[in-house]
Amino acid sequence: MSNEKIPYKIYLEENEMPKEWYNVRADMKNKPAPLLNPGTLQPMTAEELAPVFCDELVKQELDDTTPYIAIPEEIRNFYKMYRPSPLVRAYCLEKKLGTPAKIYYKFEGNNTSGSHKLNSAIAQAYYAKKQGLKGVTTETGAGQWGTALSMACSYFDLDCKVYMVKVSYEQKPFRREVMRTYGASVTPSPSTETEIGKKILADHPGTTGSLGCAISEAVEVATKTEGYRYVLGSVLNQVLLHQSVIGLETKAALDKIGEKADIIIGCAGGGSNLGGLISPFVGQMLRGEADYRIIAVEPASCPSFTRGKYAYDFCDTGMVCPLAKMYTLGSGFIPAPNHAGGLRYHGMSSTLSQLYDDGFIEATSVKQTEVFEAAEYFARVEGILPAPESSHAIKVAIDEAKKCIETGEEKTIVFGLTGTGYFDMFAYEKFHDGKMDDYIPTDAEIAESLSKLPKVD
Ligand SMILES: *Cc1c(COP(=O)(O)O)cnc(C)c1O
Repeated sequence: MSNEKIPYKIYLEENEMPKEWYNVRADMKNKPAPLLNPGTLQPMTAEELAPVFCDELVKQELDDTTPYIAIPEEIRNFYKMYRPSPLVRAYCLEKKLGTPAKIYYKFEGNNTSGSHKLNSAIAQAYYAKKQGLKGVTTETGAGQWGTALSMACSYFDLDCKVYMVKVSYEQKPFRREVMRTYGASVTPSPSTETEIGKKILADHPGTTGSLGCAISEAVEVATKTEGYRYVLGSVLNQVLLHQSVIGLETKAALDKIGEKADIIIGCAGGGSNLGGLISPFVGQMLRGEADYRIIAVEPASCPSFTRGKYAYDFCDTGMVCPLAKMYTLGSGFIPAPNHAGGLRYHGMSSTLSQLYDDGFIEATSVKQTEVFEAAEYFARVEGILPAPESSHAIKVAIDEAKKCIETGEEKTIVFGLTGTGYFDMFAYEKFHDGKMDDYIPTDAEIAESLSKLPKVD
């Protein structure tokens, strides 16, 4: 039996862990469009980005040419506390489905923050410390990023101010307490602590907030507070770069057992886990060395790739951040309060947007209740209680494995299992009680939001 040949979990040795991140932009012929200064509409320079981001991270953000960037030893040592993460062969899921497909998932939930976000949090905190800063500010939606960053900041003894989307702040008090355990301060957003927060509250009284609002607040505080910079948990090129450890480890583990993926699937919020997972594989595609089918999965309630527009847009609601060219639903788009908080961002990484536009990746959207059906099915056979975000990838992996039953094809499917769902039990409860809905924005709602895109040609 194949069980005897390939173990359930394929681990790398510590000395097989990546020593460099892979920067997929270096191999892209069509580079992602640069960030623009919203005033001049010229590409943002390192000098202009310096008040917002740490210097080393600005360098990484703007670097479209260096393929491999060394991972500093201190970061690698931190990675060793929870990495390498396992690549798991989902034998039980395969058996239950009765599929000839081989299913693997890369599990990133094996750390206290419960998601892949720690991979970038530790890198960003390291560079902030190295620059001699006092602290960092950030936003968090569902809370995974804030948790990861608070862990990273306590490790490097940095102050951490988190603006948490109000709906999550109220729905997820335990996440909040984890962050405070690691020493972070947590403020519900929009708040009355910032100019932009006050303005958003005046314009939208009673709003439950959005990632876009929280970003505006965090940026305002970072730029107005001496010794602070802003850090972001997704979307940016630098974050995809750090998350490439996921893909590099996945590829190394597959190579180790002589396996080649046919289909690679990941959920897409701002694009960091998917970008990280697929980077080395897309690199091979870009260099003409191999071919893969890559699928981005997004919620039907926030469908940036499948129903958005490829255009320059603001990264935040308050329009204080640079403009990024990306698939977007408009920076004023506030998605229905679905339960995959990490996938509620209006835009998408500009690197992934360019790869999507060039046909290297495809995208699909799935409805909330079918995602939870897949989550529960997976939990019952594979044991892991998945995060709602991750379950978007599970849903499509299961669909692809079912297609193999019909065609009899033995495809190898790899998907990213980005995290665990222990803090999402209100969502699971709604699902179990039959109270979960599947709100999908209308064409008119999306068109209305897109009509407010900034005019850039
Ligand atoms: C944040 C998050 C996501 C989505 O963010 P990306 O930047 O698109 O990866 C997915 N899964 C989990 C568990 C998350 O915390």
